[in-house]
Amino acid sequence: MRDVIVVGGGHAGCEAALAAARMGRTVTLITLKVQSIGTMPCNPSVGGLGKGHLVREVDAMGGAMGRAADAAGLHFRLLNRSKGPAVRGPRVGCDRAVYAEGIQGAIAAEDAIDIMEEEVVALVREGGRCTGVVTEPSGYLPAGATVVTGGTFLGGRLHEGLEMRPGGRVDEPPSNRLGNALRDLGLDTGRLKTGTPPRLEADSIEEGACTLQPGDDPPVFLSDMTEGLTAPQIPCLLTATTPETASFLRARLHLTPTYGGRVQGRGPRNCPSIEDKVVRFPDRSSHTIFLEPEGWESPLVYPSGLSTGLPADEQTALVRTIPGLRSAVVAQPGYAVEYDFVFPSQVRRTLEVRTIPGLLLAGQILGTTGYEEAAALGLVAGINAALGADGRTGWVPGRSEAYLGVLVDDLVRCDPREPYRMFTSRAEHRITLRQDNADLRLGPTGRRLGLVQGLRADRQVARQRRLEDARAALHKARVGQHSGWRHLKRPGAHLEEITGDWSGLEPRDVESLEAEARYEGYARRQAAAAARLEEAEATAIPDGFDYDAVRGLRLEAVEKLGRTRPESLGAASRIDGVTPVDLGLVSACLSAEAI
Ligand code: FAD
Repeated sequence: MRDVIVVGGGHAGCEAALAAARMGRTVTLITLKVQSIGTMPCNPSVGGLGKGHLVREVDAMGGAMGRAADAAGLHFRLLNRSKGPAVRGPRVGCDRAVYAEGIQGAIAAEDAIDIMEEEVVALVREGGRCTGVVTEPSGYLPAGATVVTGGTFLGGRLHEGLEMRPGGRVDEPPSNRLGNALRDLGLDTGRLKTGTPPRLEADSIEEGACTLQPGDDPPVFLSDMTEGLTAPQIPCLLTATTPETASFLRARLHLTPTYGGRVQGRGPRNCPSIEDKVVRFPDRSSHTIFLEPEGWESPLVYPSGLSTGLPADEQTALVRTIPGLRSAVVAQPGYAVEYDFVFPSQVRRTLEVRTIPGLLLAGQILGTTGYEEAAALGLVAGINAALGADGRTGWVPGRSEAYLGVLVDDLVRCDPREPYRMFTSRAEHRITLRQDNADLRLGPTGRRLGLVQGLRADRQVARQRRLEDARAALHKARVGQHSGWRHLKRPGAHLEEITGDWSGLEPRDVESLEAEARYEGYARRQAAAAARLEEAEATAIPDGFDYDAVRGLRLEAVEKLGRTRPESLGAASRIDGVTPVDLGLVSACLSAEAI
């Protein structure tokens, strides 16, 4: 029997398997196609606004995504560089093949992980608990905990124009029986969709008609363990659609699955197809298209922003309405994928299914979109599968501690009606949840849980010590009548203006110190709010709590709280329509019961 079985070798499954293995558990990773492990079926990039924060947090807890992305990095950019440190997001364009190799290498290096190339067709429940899976052809495989990360494969249907065929993604079969197995266990599922643009032949693009966008020099890496670039960066090219593009699309909307009525699932609002953009923003004369190389050796270019559900034979003409692409050749047509997802309000914040102990879900299956959100959920699920496998209490990241906490809480509290994507605006504590301090926030937990060991642990501890020493020195240093720390709080102030020996500090240390000093006041107020929230989070609401019995509680609150079943007052406070007065009544009832 294995401690943990992970179903799915995508971004969620890989991080889940690696986390459980790092925590000393035996793991079996079961997936449909071993050589597809770590595939990036869409954008050849990792990171971005909010997404980059998640990758840094997965990295701080020993995850693989950041390192693999840096090693495959051919175009590094720190987005929002001109804005405050709280909203900057690192992003890296990747060589798709090198990225997958990196993830496969990380999996292969873990002796505790066995890999099986089979289809999981059923989930086994005994005595109310999930005790393993049934695969074809091996049959029953018992496990202490099972993490299902089926991605876009459950009930997967691929759409090219009005044609539809079953599939999890291009050239890969759907996974229908796993979806049915989850429904047989009483889980409610919905439908979502997402799409990908056509891939273009790089040598058919007229570079001169586009704007060059070089990568950052020096690059900002996603992983603390990255020492430097593995190969020269390649610039991106920028172009934009034209009014001709819009009129071309308007005349063919009926040929797309969304406007042709073929798709039920909703797509990601923030990753719309080009036809969605034309319909939603009729007054916009153009939309930016980023032409991203797919790899150092790849002949393909990924036109980000041009995903479409048009029929394949219309896509060349669409592309050729765009400057720089007037003679472009479509190497692979774009398509849309529609798939089942499980409403995430059915899992706890540990990502364990409320009604089936021992079964956890992570990744796109929970209604998210994106490699980064999937990897983040996979990490949390892998940690809790490892803890649960020997009966230990789960780990739940807090909203004031990490974007991981924001992601999990948002999903569990409010079922997404469209694919959920992380943004910095979703984090009310973004001032303290910066991408530069993920290691300071999550490293101690990572080390305590056994996720972070060896050189990474040493580096985290050394950096923590450098910063402690620097803070002490700043409080002692003087600038005029004020301490160095007080001076650093001023907008625009920089460390080098303060007398002291800062030679031992790394650039990232300086960035963290300056941001910490500048935001200290905000952070203190946020910490007070977080403390109140933590107190509310710590006020558990028993599973069977009877909201009907709470005198004066509004019917709307009774209905919403009874349906969502929040685990704590904190979670209850974030349910749309539940007011502070409702919370006060519930809290009073809980205290009365406790007496
Ligand atoms: P996946 O990466 O889909 O991995 C699921 C894994 O589960 C696969 O390895 C599969 O083999 C395995 N599996 C499934 N069923 C079984 C079974 N029964 N037994 C064994 N193994 C099984 N993300 C974005 O951020 N932006 C986009 O624009 C975007 N567009 C996309 C367009 C398309 C066409 C596709 C296919 C995906 C797109 N994505 C996009 C989504 C992105 O690919 C996912 O967010 C990400 O891959 C989710 O990771 P995951 O691990 O949850 O699932």
